Amino acid sequence: MKQLNFGHNVTLNPRSMYAPKSEQEVIKILDENKGRRIRCIGRLHSWSKTLQCDDVLLDLRYLNDVQLTAAGNSTVARAGGGCQIKHLLAELEKQSWTLPSVGFITEQTVAGAISTGTHGSGRHSLSHYVTSIRVARYDRHSGKAVVEEIASGDELRAARCSLGCVGVILSVTMKCRPMYRVEEHFREYENLSKVLDAEKDYSLQQFFLVPWRWTYIVQHRREVDAPKSPTSFLYMWYRFFTLDIAMHVLILLTVRIVRIHAAVRTLFRRVLPIFVIRNRRFIADSTTQLVMEHELFRHVEIELFVQRDRLVAALEFLRHALCAMGDRTKQPSETFLAQLEKTSCEEFNQLRGAYCHHYPICVRKILPDDTLISMASNAQGLTELGNCETPDGGSDHAWYSITLTNYHRGSNRKPFDELASFLATNMARLFGARPHWGKLCPLPPEELQDLYPALDRFCEVCVSADPNGAFSNQWTESLFQIQSNHVEIKSLK
Ligand SMILES: Cc1cc2nc3c(=O)[nH]c(=O)nc-3n(C[C@H](O)[C@H](O)[C@H](O)COP(=O)(O)OP(=O)(O)OC[C@H]3O[C@@H](n4cnc5c(N)ncnc54)[C@H](O)[C@@H]3O)c2cc1C
Repeated sequence: MKQLNFGHNVTLNPRSMYAPKSEQEVIKILDENKGRRIRCIGRLHSWSKTLQCDDVLLDLRYLNDVQLTAAGNSTVARAGGGCQIKHLLAELEKQSWTLPSVGFITEQTVAGAISTGTHGSGRHSLSHYVTSIRVARYDRHSGKAVVEEIASGDELRAARCSLGCVGVILSVTMKCRPMYRVEEHFREYENLSKVLDAEKDYSLQQFFLVPWRWTYIVQHRREVDAPKSPTSFLYMWYRFFTLDIAMHVLILLTVRIVRIHAAVRTLFRRVLPIFVIRNRRFIADSTTQLVMEHELFRHVEIELFVQRDRLVAALEFLRHALCAMGDRTKQPSETFLAQLEKTSCEEFNQLRGAYCHHYPICVRKILPDDTLISMASNAQGLTELGNCETPDGGSDHAWYSITLTNYHRGSNRKPFDELASFLATNMARLFGARPHWGKLCPLPPEELQDLYPALDRFCEVCVSADPNGAFSNQWTESLFQIQSNHVEIKSLK
């Protein structure tokens, strides 16, 4: 019954496993398994321990129907929790609608994607657009399994990104928008401030800090009211063969076979940048333009979210850390050493020379979410983000996610795991960085309270909806326990 996640870094060991085909079947399973721990899965595309399961596993893949309904001038989609994003997009496109935001890939399920705050660039995360969620869980009084609709208040904000802790998500209703086109072109910059200035013109852009070359390759993107470029299909083939395949094959060869740090550095300094076609604009449908085939080669990722005013310093810190880890002869800068002193970090010296980073570092902008604990949930604790419905609403409080990707396998990945722990802890302390819940998330629970001002409110909802912790796992319990105890004590007073 063992199950492995996409990255093969998490093993699930459920004692029982079910794939229900209807809501009634879910209710029956919950009633039959009362008193046991229930964990739901989507497509296992998370890398964090949010997937850990040693008791009852529910795979919702058969709850995948999609219904579209007019809501005033707009349209909402209700999709089964196990519906994959790609299936939902295909159904929406039949009626010229689409989702307001998509990530790198569309393999995830709707319930899985919102449960970890999945996002793209230039918009909110998907969780933000959820208007109601249908869940199966235990009634507080009778203890019987029931279906409930969550449609407002803190309960909705918690359920929009809940790591599986508020019950079994049966279906999700989300705002949609008419299909649109995106223009894209690549440019390379030496200077980060110029990259950020360009957001004024390219609100959907994302950029890559190229390790060892230390320049920024920017994917300038914006929504346009113009027809598809006649050559856009050729551009998509170029992106697929050159960036999704050839670039990855070269990285894999260098990292897994050649395995020499100097070769990795040369690859990024001199070879891979040649692959990028610069300054040629192409227009295509948003779903084609914004998505890549990032799932073709197995890997792991950590993604850290910081706010705009800390982005420059956070990237500088990261660069110093990677330089010192990739090249033992490099002396860390005074500023970097002073920062380490501030966080009382002792393990850095052991990491020096141990890891040579081998993938472009992706940076994306995410507008603040009306949620309690998604990574882009509003830092100021303002959860009523009234202005977020405007195209660039909440931009002043935007978050920037920094993704590090790794292609080592098995025990060769140990240095990257150590780097991930080092970055998660130190960047949380120095820059208030929040790790993605669905990616490597090695954050000590004691750091959480400072990162998420609304954590108490999230735990309050969980304690009230699931007092026996049937829908938590060991990891979520360890993360939220301090806060849950606090919430319970408060409610006893
Ligand atoms: C190649 C790749 C690319 C990625 N790109 C991006 C990206 O661009 N942006 C981004 O933000 N993330 C990205 N991710 C991360 C991914 O989007 C998230 O980890 C997402 O949660 C995975 O969805 P899933 O359907 O596989 O859910 P799973 O990984 O199976 O589950 C995730 C969480 O959802 C819960 N869950 C799932 N279904 C239910 C349900 N029915 N009821 C209750 N809880 C449920 C699980 O218990 C778990 O806590 C990427 C991952 C991969 C592997």
